Amino acid sequence: MAPSGSRNIKKGCWRVLYWIPVLFIALVVAWSYYAYVLQLCIESIEHTGEKVIYLLVYHVVFIMFVWAYWQTIFTRPMNPLKEFHLSYSDKELLEREDRGESQQEILRRIARDLPIYTRTNSGAIRFCDRCQLLKPDRCHHCSVCNKCILKMDHHCPWVNNCVGFSNYKFFMLFLAYSLLYCLFITATDLQYFIKFWLNGLPDTQAKFHILFLFFSACMFSVSLASLLTYHCWLVCRNRSTLEVVRAPVFRHGTDKSGFSLGFSKNFRQVFGDEVKYWPIPVFSGLGDGCSFPTCLVNLDPEQPSSSPTRSHPVSKSAADGRQSKPLTESQSRLLTSTICWSEIDSATDRKGASNQGMTIEHEA
Ligand SMILES: [Zn+2]
Ligand SMILES: [Zn+2]
Repeated sequence: MAPSGSRNIKKGCWRVLYWIPVLFIALVVAWSYYAYVLQLCIESIEHTGEKVIYLLVYHVVFIMFVWAYWQTIFTRPMNPLKEFHLSYSDKELLEREDRGESQQEILRRIARDLPIYTRTNSGAIRFCDRCQLLKPDRCHHCSVCNKCILKMDHHCPWVNNCVGFSNYKFFMLFLAYSLLYCLFITATDLQYFIKFWLNGLPDTQAKFHILFLFFSACMFSVSLASLLTYHCWLVCRNRSTLEVVRAPVFRHGTDKSGFSLGFSKNFRQVFGDEVKYWPIPVFSGLGDGCSFPTCLVNLDPEQPSSSPTRSHPVSKSAADGRQSKPLTESQSRLLTSTICWSEIDSATDRKGASNQGMTIEHEA
C-alpha cells in the first residue's frame, strides 16, 4: 500500500479515537437523564407538585446545557481571512530567499497592510509555514486540527474541537449550564440521598441511581466550578489560556494585558452588546477575530512597559500623523466610549487619553 494511503488510514483512526471523550460525556448525560427523570422524579417522588416543578426546571436547564454543548462541538473554528494568506508571487519570493532576515523583510512588507501588532519572542513577524499565512493577532496553529485558529484558547478533547473566537461564548455557556445542571441535580437529589442512608427509600433499583446521581453530580460540580471560575477570570482580563502560558509580544515588548479594555468591554467582546443574547448559545460576540483593539502600553522606552497606569498621552503613530486602518464596526463600538483611532485630532486624543488613562495603539 502507498505510504500516503496508510497515513490516511492512521489519520482516520485517530479522528475516530478523538470522539471517545465526547461519547463518554454523551453517555454520562444520557444516563443522568434516565436516572433523574425516570428513576428519581417518576419512580421515587410521590408528591405531584414537587415532581412537576423538578421536571420543568430540569428540562429547561437540560435543553440549554445540551444546546451549548452541541454548539461548542459543532461550530467550526474560524481560520484567518484570505488577506493573511501569502499570494502566489509572495510564496515564490519567500522560497527564493534562503536567509532568515530577507524572508522577514518580505513578511514585514506584507504585514504592513494588515492589522498585525503582535510578534514572536524575537520580534519577528508571526508566520505559519504549514498554512503559509501571516498569523493574525491571537491566532495560533493547532496541531490537532492542523489549522491556524483565530483567537485560539485551547484544543478541548471533551468537545473534540478547538475553542477559539467562533465558539468561546458557547464553551463558557456550556461550562455555566453544565454546572447549573449538576448543582440542580445535587440540590434536588439531596433529600432522597439522605433517605437512602436512613433506609427510607423503597427497595428498588431506583435507590442506586439516586445514590450514584448524587455522587457524580457533586464530583462534576467541583471540577466544572473551578474551570468556569478560571475562564470567567480570563474573560474579565481578555486573555486566552494560551496567552496565560505565553504572554503576547507587541512591538514594544511583552504585555500580558495588551488586549484588555476593562471589564465591561472585555465581557462584551465575547458576549456582545445585547443582553438578551448573553445566555443563549448563538454567536453574539464583537469583532472579526482577525484584529483586536489593543490598549496602548507605554511606547516610551524611558518608562517601564509593565506600568499599570497606561497613561501615555497619545499613541506613537497618532503623534506621527500616520493613518491607521479603520476597525470593523463592531470593534469600533467597543472603543467609542473611550477614544477613536485616527480621525481624532491629536488635541482631542491627548485630552481623551488622559481622561481615560488609556488610548488605542495603531500603527501603519
Ligand atoms: Zn497554521
Ligand atoms: Zn484544534
